[in-house]
Amino acid sequence: MLNEEIVDPTILENARRTVGDFHHLIDSGLINKDGEFFPSLMYPTMMQYPPMKAEGFLDGYVPHEDSSCVYVHFPFCMMRCAFCHFPNVLGSTEGDKDVYLDHLEKEMDISMSRFGVSRVKARSILLGGGTPTFISPAQMKRFFNFFTARMDMTAMTQFSCDTSPFFLLGYEGRERLKIMRDAGVRRLAIGVQAFSDPILKKMARHHNTADSLRAISMAKEMGFKVNLELICGYPGETPELWVDMVRQALRCEVDEIIIYRLKILPMGVHTGAIYSLFDSRGNPLITNDEQIRLKAVAIGLLEQNGYHETMSRFFSKTPADYSYYMSDWMGGQHDNLGFGLYSMTMLRDRFSQNTPDLKEYYAAIESGKMPIKTGAIRTRDQQLRRNISMPLKNMHLLKKQFRDITGADPGAVFGKKIQLLKDHGLLQEDAEYLKLTKLGRFFADEIAQFFCHPDLLPFKKDKYKDGPLNPYVGYETEA
Ligand code: SF4
Repeated sequence: MLNEEIVDPTILENARRTVGDFHHLIDSGLINKDGEFFPSLMYPTMMQYPPMKAEGFLDGYVPHEDSSCVYVHFPFCMMRCAFCHFPNVLGSTEGDKDVYLDHLEKEMDISMSRFGVSRVKARSILLGGGTPTFISPAQMKRFFNFFTARMDMTAMTQFSCDTSPFFLLGYEGRERLKIMRDAGVRRLAIGVQAFSDPILKKMARHHNTADSLRAISMAKEMGFKVNLELICGYPGETPELWVDMVRQALRCEVDEIIIYRLKILPMGVHTGAIYSLFDSRGNPLITNDEQIRLKAVAIGLLEQNGYHETMSRFFSKTPADYSYYMSDWMGGQHDNLGFGLYSMTMLRDRFSQNTPDLKEYYAAIESGKMPIKTGAIRTRDQQLRRNISMPLKNMHLLKKQFRDITGADPGAVFGKKIQLLKDHGLLQEDAEYLKLTKLGRFFADEIAQFFCHPDLLPFKKDKYKDGPLNPYVGYETEA
C-alpha cells in the first residue's frame, strides 16, 4: 500500500485525482467503459491494412521534401517477451542473419531505385526490431558499411538504436557499442522494462536487473544518450515495487525515461502471450484504475526529480532529449522510409508495410520487387484525421503544418471536436498551436482516437458511454 511515508502526499493526491479524471472521461465517452488501453501509433490505426502491390505503390507519387526519416527493422529476438505483439523471428543462426543482411542490402537498392535516389538524405534514423543488436559485431560492422554508404547524413539530427541490455554486455557488447558509435549512433533506447528479476522472468526477458544496470553504465561511459523504458502495470508489479523501480530508473541518471502502459490487446498480425495469459483482463492482477494511479505516481516522481514530458510518454530533463525519429514522423508528419521485414514506409499521402513473412520477404527481393504486403493511398478523410490525431498524440499540432499538408484549417474541419476537448480541459489553443494540456497528455492515445473514423476505432460502439466525447458521435468532418 502506498502511503505518505513512501511517496510525497502531493504526488499521491494528484494520482488520486487522475484516477477520478479517468472515470470522468469514461463517463464523458472518451475512454471505453472498461478503461482498456489501445495505443495510437499511426493513422489509419495499426490493425490490418488492405493488400497493396509494390508495383502500384509509387504511382502518381510526388516527393515534397528532400530528406526523410529512415527506419531499419531487425526481426531477430532471443526469446519472445510475453507482452510483445510484434512478429519477431526466433532461433536464428549466424548464417540466417547473414542471409537477412544480404536481402536487406538488396531491398535498399530496389527501393532507392524506385524512389529515384542513389542515397537517402536522412533526417533522423531509428534501428528497431526485434532486437537490432542481436547480430554479431562483425555483422553489425557489415550492416553499417552498406547502410551508411547509402545514406546522406548531412542533414541528420539524430541516429538512434533500440537495444536490449543483454547485447551491450561483456567484450562483444563493448564491441557493438564502439561500432555503433563509429557509425554515428548517438542515442540508445534500452529496453529495461522492469528493475525486478521476478517481473523480468514473468515477462520472459532474457536479462536481469544487474545486466540492465551494467548496460546502462557502459552505454553512458561510451558517450551515448541513454533512454530507458519501463512498463507500467505488469502483473505482479505491486505499488511499492513500482515506486522502487521508478526510483531505480532515476538513480541511473539517464537522459530519458519512457513510461509505457502495458498493452494487452494485440495491434497487428501477432498476438502476444499476455493476451491469452490474462484472458483479455478476465483475471487482471492490476486493474486499469491501478495502472492509471501507478502511471500518475511515476510521473509525479519523475517531475519531482526534474524530468518533464517532452513528447508523449518521453520524460527528460533537457527539452532536446527525446526521439527525433518519433517526433519527425509522428508529430511533424515527415516522410519515413522503412527497410526490412514488416517495416513501414509513410509518405505524405500514402503508406505501405512490408510483409511479416521472412520467406515472402526474401522471394520479393530476389525477384527485384519491394517486399510490400499492405498499405493504402490515404483518402481525403484519412488524410485529415491523420494530420490532426498523430501530431496531437505527440503533444501538439502546428496549425500551419496542418494547412500546408491538407490545404484546410484544423478549426474549419474539426472545430466542434476541438471545442469539446477544450471544454473538458484536455486541449489548449493559441494562434499557432493546438496543444494538449497536462491532463490531455495523460490520455493522448484516447484523444488521438477521438479524431478517428468510427470504422477505424479499436473498440465497438457499445463499448463507450453516451457522453459528449464519445468518438462515434459527431465524427463527420466539417469541411
Ligand atoms: S519486446 Fe523486443 S525483445 Fe521482446 S520479443 Fe518483442 S521485439 Fe523481441
